Amino acid sequence: MRKSDAVLALDGVGSAKEKALKRLGIRTIEELINHFPRNYEERRLVNSLREVQDGESVSFEGLVVEEFRTAQVRGGLKLTKGKAASGSVVVDITFFNQPYIANSLKYGESYIFYGKIQQSGRRFQMTNPYFEESAKREFVEGIVPIYPLTSGMTQLTLSRLIRQSLLKLGAQEETLPDELIQQCCLMDLEKAYQNIHSPIDWEALGKAKHRLVFEELLCLSLGLVRLRNCRKQTGAVAYAFNDLTGFMSALPFSPTKAQINAIEDIARDVQLEVPMNRLLQGDVGSGKTVVATAGIYLTWKQGLQSAFMVPTDILARQHYKTLQELLKSYDIRIGLLTASLTAKEKREVKEKLKCGEIDLLIGTHAILSDAVQFANLSFVVTDEQHRFGVEQRASLLEKAGKERRPHVLVMSATPIPRTMALIIYGDLELSVLDQKPKNRKEVKTYLIGEDKRKRLNRFIDAQIDDGHGVYIVCPMVDESDTMELKSVLQYGAHLQESVFPHRTLAVLHGKLKAKEKETIMQGFMNREIDILVSTTVIEVGVDVPHASLMVIENADRFGLSQLHQLRGRVGRGEQQSYCVLLSESASQQSRERLKALVGSNDGFQLAEEDLKQRGPGDFFGARQHGLPSLKVSNLVDDMDVLAQARQVAIQICEEDSDLSQAKYSGLKRKVQVLFDEYGDSFN
Ligand code: ADP
Ligand code: MG
Repeated sequence: MRKSDAVLALDGVGSAKEKALKRLGIRTIEELINHFPRNYEERRLVNSLREVQDGESVSFEGLVVEEFRTAQVRGGLKLTKGKAASGSVVVDITFFNQPYIANSLKYGESYIFYGKIQQSGRRFQMTNPYFEESAKREFVEGIVPIYPLTSGMTQLTLSRLIRQSLLKLGAQEETLPDELIQQCCLMDLEKAYQNIHSPIDWEALGKAKHRLVFEELLCLSLGLVRLRNCRKQTGAVAYAFNDLTGFMSALPFSPTKAQINAIEDIARDVQLEVPMNRLLQGDVGSGKTVVATAGIYLTWKQGLQSAFMVPTDILARQHYKTLQELLKSYDIRIGLLTASLTAKEKREVKEKLKCGEIDLLIGTHAILSDAVQFANLSFVVTDEQHRFGVEQRASLLEKAGKERRPHVLVMSATPIPRTMALIIYGDLELSVLDQKPKNRKEVKTYLIGEDKRKRLNRFIDAQIDDGHGVYIVCPMVDESDTMELKSVLQYGAHLQESVFPHRTLAVLHGKLKAKEKETIMQGFMNREIDILVSTTVIEVGVDVPHASLMVIENADRFGLSQLHQLRGRVGRGEQQSYCVLLSESASQQSRERLKALVGSNDGFQLAEEDLKQRGPGDFFGARQHGLPSLKVSNLVDDMDVLAQARQVAIQICEEDSDLSQAKYSGLKRKVQVLFDEYGDSFN
């Protein structure tokens, strides 16, 4: 058997199991053995139940001394009960709603049961235990892996399929060079796979994990170091002009100290031939756009082109307007490029761009298309950088041509710890906007239930009477789900007809044509629309300063960082703004999440809270930082391994930057797999 074989090659896998595996992202044997346990359970097989504490989970060997029988009780509940004897102890065993079990546990036969022992007086009980025939025991003793599952797939089946694969694969070829294994004291690959799936003991499991984490983070670092080296080899244009006094004094507001510092950082960087690589971190509403605009202005003064990439169509169109306004005193020619333009419009923009008749191109990832060529790209801004992958950002840099690199500014409201940012972006510099513009009032946040709906509606009316705009956001998990869309549309229609007939209301969602979205956004901006009912398409970046109220329906269905982003759509002007979270959820977890939001307006603090509540795996998932998704490692817990792996990656790249030596062939393939897979998920 080979790693590239399809899972159908395994005994016991037919089309149903194949489908279930596919739902877990598993098509090949290689993907199957890379499906790692999410947890482990130590199953201790005891000789005597008398030594076991009440409430302890153990395995014991028991002889069925009373036949298992099923009885129907109230509410359709089916109870299957029987008794098993272990020495002098008799255990009452009960299964809920699994009547078929009565047939698999035979009177007079011996089984190993695993479960939680409950003792009361002399009575021993176990409910819904896991069991195997004594003679064929597999998973009742030692450290047992617990895998992430999907419907149609059980722990037992999955564990067995993985064992079968490892057995049939036989000796696995080592991916790391011997000297590296020695140098870093790593477990060899085959042993690591054995022990991650069927650990001999905790120590071996620890070593197996370390080996696999190290390898994965080494591949990640190798990919990133190579991207960085590409960038470093060539220089950027050193700008001669860096006088910003005119630009600053023409701004419609006086910039905050933090904005001035960040702008000065950029003005300093672009004077050098070393390409700038700067991350601008600032909470929602801190005013990142104007900082980027300063760099664009300097680039234009130098007679060179800038590109400004944003994740959504709405945002591209909004920035197009904002930058036109901020730069209106200058003769800067601005172009817009999104997938939603007509073919003719696109062609025109591309032609102008190529012959240098556009100084600044604002657009979505449509900018990345091969057909888009710049005359002299020299300054690149990526807004809401976490929405893009590292490779997407890299391919934008290539637009500057082979001989030169652009200066790069990435902007984000997602706080990433500095050490991690360093590793992700290479040797980047950091500017932080830790101040909000003056005259901003904190957004007041309230958590309410349906009982307050009438009061909320009166409040909405009052806000509109005062000349403000109102957002009502409805959760839609999947922008392409027609059922969900229907309910949002129906809800909008209901509000318009029955609750706010005297107001203008529009519904904004991902399925609308770009032009329709723009008309609606424009109407809201111009105060022709009072209430904007929207899905999360407005989540990032949207800036309508007179909007003062953000109502979030079913708020418990959103994550904390997302809620904070949504709330960031208000409080962008001088008026007092409000965020109202509607939730009927009684779940402890979602209450805590929503209370955290009510209690804090600080994005950095909320991100930490989010990290605590969701765990690093989720929080720093690929969507958050644009990195390939990792299988065994997580960037928070494995930070020190990451630092070590990065050192090794730098060494390897110095020795053999293309990984062309035979000893690196296994590693090279793994780097490709890691980065490819991730490329797909972003296309
Ligand atoms: P974000 O950091 O979320 O991208 P924006 O750049 O969209 O924030 O700025 C938010 C709003 O604040 C915009 O309407 C912008 O014009 C305004 N703004 C930015 N800087 C200042 C400032 N120093 N004083 C007053 N308003 C500002
Ligand atoms: Mg922004």
